Amino acid sequence: MKETFLEELRSRDLHSLAAESAQADEARVRSVLAKGRADTLEEFAALISPAAEKFLEPMARISSATTQKYFGRTMRLFAPLYLSNECVNNCVYCGFARRHSIERRTLSLEEIEREIDAIYKLGFRNVLLVAAEHPKLVSSGYMEDAIKISLKKMPSVSIEIGPSRVEDYKKYVEAGCEGLTVFQETYDEKVYPTLHPSGPKSVFEWRLATPERGAQAGMRKLGLGPLLGVNNWRFEILAVALHAKFLMKRAWKSQISISLPRMRPSEGCFKVLAENIPNDRQLVLVTCALRLFLSRISLVVSTRESRRLRDGMMNIGVTQMSAYSSTKPGGYADAEDSGEQFHIDDNRTPQEFVAALRSHGIDPVWKDFDAGFVR
Ligand code: SF4
Repeated sequence: MKETFLEELRSRDLHSLAAESAQADEARVRSVLAKGRADTLEEFAALISPAAEKFLEPMARISSATTQKYFGRTMRLFAPLYLSNECVNNCVYCGFARRHSIERRTLSLEEIEREIDAIYKLGFRNVLLVAAEHPKLVSSGYMEDAIKISLKKMPSVSIEIGPSRVEDYKKYVEAGCEGLTVFQETYDEKVYPTLHPSGPKSVFEWRLATPERGAQAGMRKLGLGPLLGVNNWRFEILAVALHAKFLMKRAWKSQISISLPRMRPSEGCFKVLAENIPNDRQLVLVTCALRLFLSRISLVVSTRESRRLRDGMMNIGVTQMSAYSSTKPGGYADAEDSGEQFHIDDNRTPQEFVAALRSHGIDPVWKDFDAGFVR
């Protein structure tokens, strides 16, 4: 294994492996399933092949049993809190991109407190602070203050903001932040610049190394993910699985999670090629395959997905879900506010969602531990 994930990624021909995956035969899939797990990326590739779709039921059974072994029958619940939609980037698929004339807003510290109160009343004790990318969020001490305010009521606070330096992440860890999520969007170095034409996000290498910098700063949780729909999905799934495997070795103190968001309509007018998005059945297949390859990682599904699909995925390998999310800054305390980044599909209240979990025999986990543990 290489020293950095950039070197690791460049040393692999994942395009060829994605092409081989698309051609894998049933015998290959059967031989991997007979072991009950995938030991190599090549075996994992067979499990996301078209041939594997015929074996979805046995794969789901193995995935479910493996998940129960490591996580029990539980689902960790969290709420994203959008702090700011001010952004210096121009991602071609995003409604918050700089070129859009939408109302821009960064929550004040008082407004954050109101949002945290509203999220607390909904029952959540894990919050993910989400912000678009703007230098003022990093330079002014704003994020440290936002983390500290959140910790007054939330025992667990993570962040999903523009990639930062190790020294900035250290400040957030000292303020009490325990997790860092960063979506690579695409792991394809040729496609990446076409999606991110300007702004700091246009630097592929800087974004790719973000989880490694987070681990170096002491983040206890690292979240990864591609944005499914912007490129060949099998390539992206292979790359994120490789990334997680790499971090499990190189950042072994951190818990790794993978999210698999699929593109939804936004104000970006981005044309999504249908063949680049896994359908519902393929998304379930990928979830099961990830569990067979990476038995201990957390798998996350957000409210972007439909109620029907989320209910179907509760028992097969997913370990973290958001519920009743607002993707607007200020959207929990005030129903009407500035623009959303994308639409949500499952808008059940937390209570309705918990009832659905319980009807599947799954216990909701609102809180992992008391805040004193991380501070
Ligand atoms: S995806 Fe993030 S960085 Fe890109 S334009 Fe949207 S908010 Fe900004």
